[in-house]
Amino acid sequence: MLIPAVTVLVCTYSEIALKGKNRPLFQRRLLNAMRRALSGEPISNINHVESRFLVRLDDPARAEACLEKLKRVFGIRWIAPAVAVERGESVEDDLRRVSAVASAMAVRDVGDGRTFKVNTRRSDRNYGVNSQVISREVGHHVGAALDLPANMTKPDFTVFVRVLREAIMVFTVNQPGQGGLPAGSGGRVCCLLSGGIDSPVAAWMLMRRGCRPVFVHFHTGRNYQESDPGKMIELARILAAWSPTPLTMWMVPVVPFEMRAMEHVPESHDMVMFRRFMFRAGQALARREHCLALVAGDSLGQVASQTLPNLAAIGTDLELPVFRPLIGLDKEFITGFSRQIGAFDTSIQPYRDCCSIRSPRPVLNARPDDILRYSEAMDLPGAVMEALETATKLVVGPEGVQRTVLPKRTEPEAG
Ligand code: ATP
Ligand code: MG
Repeated sequence: MLIPAVTVLVCTYSEIALKGKNRPLFQRRLLNAMRRALSGEPISNINHVESRFLVRLDDPARAEACLEKLKRVFGIRWIAPAVAVERGESVEDDLRRVSAVASAMAVRDVGDGRTFKVNTRRSDRNYGVNSQVISREVGHHVGAALDLPANMTKPDFTVFVRVLREAIMVFTVNQPGQGGLPAGSGGRVCCLLSGGIDSPVAAWMLMRRGCRPVFVHFHTGRNYQESDPGKMIELARILAAWSPTPLTMWMVPVVPFEMRAMEHVPESHDMVMFRRFMFRAGQALARREHCLALVAGDSLGQVASQTLPNLAAIGTDLELPVFRPLIGLDKEFITGFSRQIGAFDTSIQPYRDCCSIRSPRPVLNARPDDILRYSEAMDLPGAVMEALETATKLVVGPEGVQRTVLPKRTEPEAG
């Protein structure tokens, strides 16, 4: 029996269906993201047909590769590699051809299945016969080809038939996509990105909800030239591979903070004050980059700076909302996500993060009053301003750094 080639990838979306009046906008964003993900592939067109996107392939040999690329597009719920049976002169003729295709696919894909079912849906309500008739007719042929009984309630194996106006789609596997919402539908967020496991996952979660991240990383050294940016660039590159467009990463030196904190902040509060400095600098950059929120990878109680009192004290007077998508997740769970997005192996590489050089006995329940007092004593706004004046902007795509914008002033004054 000739095995028919996959000519269409049927992509369904879930939540966009709920978006009411904004639905066309979301669909357009998703279509754009799909086009970008598949650029360079032999695709003749992508049509929106009856709540699905149909990706038509010119070269069936690229089906698997295209499917893998679509699994990185947020907003797609399911992807089915399908054979499109063009609609012909009569229903009888259609069903004969659909049955032949369905039987061949079933024989190829049934594996160890002992029972089967044909699941038909008819989006074209005007089609000559209803779903049950189609299932029965196609099921008759598939059953004969497999030599297996049908089971309507708990089949081991299912053949799907979708009658669209455009053509009749036949498929046997439905692979899960990433879900979420299409890139660009959620606005911009400023993500505090460390070299660890958590913050890349936090950024990815907001990307999955349609947000465009602007990364901010605080590095040791006085300026970009003194930093060791390899690992951060690699993390940004991994995240950019989930985005239809290259992403911005700000590299901000921590020395302007350290110089001031040394004199005015007790060692016990050094960590919380550093966190506060990061959020304040992040907020200033967020304004510059038109971001509406800050994102951090905190998980409640994971380390000393993430106790509830400390989290509460750090950002008492921040004007932007801070999103912490991992706040209720265990490390094990976060690690699973990190592997899934492809960041884990990079995240565990050694790196001299500024957080690793802080006090061994940090305060566990910082008081907002103290935090405000130290902020004033050390001139926190001055530290933020100086750090941003010496910050470097990188534009990173899936292939690496595309552009580096060094600050006008490269050598900060001491003190
Ligand atoms: P991660 O694995 O993300 O580094 P962590 O468990 O090490 O998290 P912390 O070091 O306390 O936690 O940092 C908490 C959050 O603060 C991070 O998830 C990140 O959002 C932000 N952060 C920490 N260090 C930096 C840094 N050097 N630059 C930018 N953001 C940072
Ligand atoms: Mg960290």
